[in-house]
Amino acid sequence: MPDSSTKLDILVFAPHPDDGELFCGGTLLKSKQHGYRTGICDLTRGEMGTRGTPEIRAEEAQAASTLLGLDVRVNLEIPDGGIAQTPEHRLRVIQTLREFQPHLILIPYPEDRHPDHVHASYLVKEAAFYSGLRAIDTGQTPYRPLKILYYFTHYIPVQPTIIVDVSDVFEYKLVAIQAYQSQFYQANASTGEPETYISSKTFWEGITGRASYWGSKIQVRYGEPFWMSEPVSTQNVMAILSL
Ligand SMILES: [Zn+2]
Repeated sequence: MPDSSTKLDILVFAPHPDDGELFCGGTLLKSKQHGYRTGICDLTRGEMGTRGTPEIRAEEAQAASTLLGLDVRVNLEIPDGGIAQTPEHRLRVIQTLREFQPHLILIPYPEDRHPDHVHASYLVKEAAFYSGLRAIDTGQTPYRPLKILYYFTHYIPVQPTIIVDVSDVFEYKLVAIQAYQSQFYQANASTGEPETYISSKTFWEGITGRASYWGSKIQVRYGEPFWMSEPVSTQNVMAILSL
């Protein structure tokens, strides 16, 4: 991986390795196309997963990072199934934010089926605020990201604020997700692992179905939806036309 001590434009916080690829992979690829520095911070090693091992997941994450062209991939090693808004977990997130100083962070939407996704959302949102306070001393410069963008995992209970057109990178996103061979459907191979919904053909096909649905909302082939808690500001109303 490239030098991990440098600053980022965009940092995705993922509860588990593969959430970043599944829900923000196209946006990360598009951002790379535009020349931005990108990263994923996994909060856990995914050790509660039915399939694979933390070691296998780490190798797969490394491979996916290369495919996405990430500048940084880090793992905070919070226990899987144990993400909580504790001072210790918050400190790990604050240290990460201060190290990489991302302008924009992408975090899970707080309403979801998976408790880790819910807790991750609140944990990182709170840490993003506290990271700007000098009174919290980590030996680093205080830093607060400019914006938080929420991505959706299982539930999409609100109208997205923006949909990123990821049509021209969508095939690459699928390749990056397929780097997690222990987790997802393999057309021509049996892993010998127990079948789960995540590893089913139905889930795999749903990735494309969902991207196609959100793409149709903005009249393109594939899209990734995001939500913001505050209005989007602009001095140039024509900028929203993406011309
Ligand atoms: Zn997850």
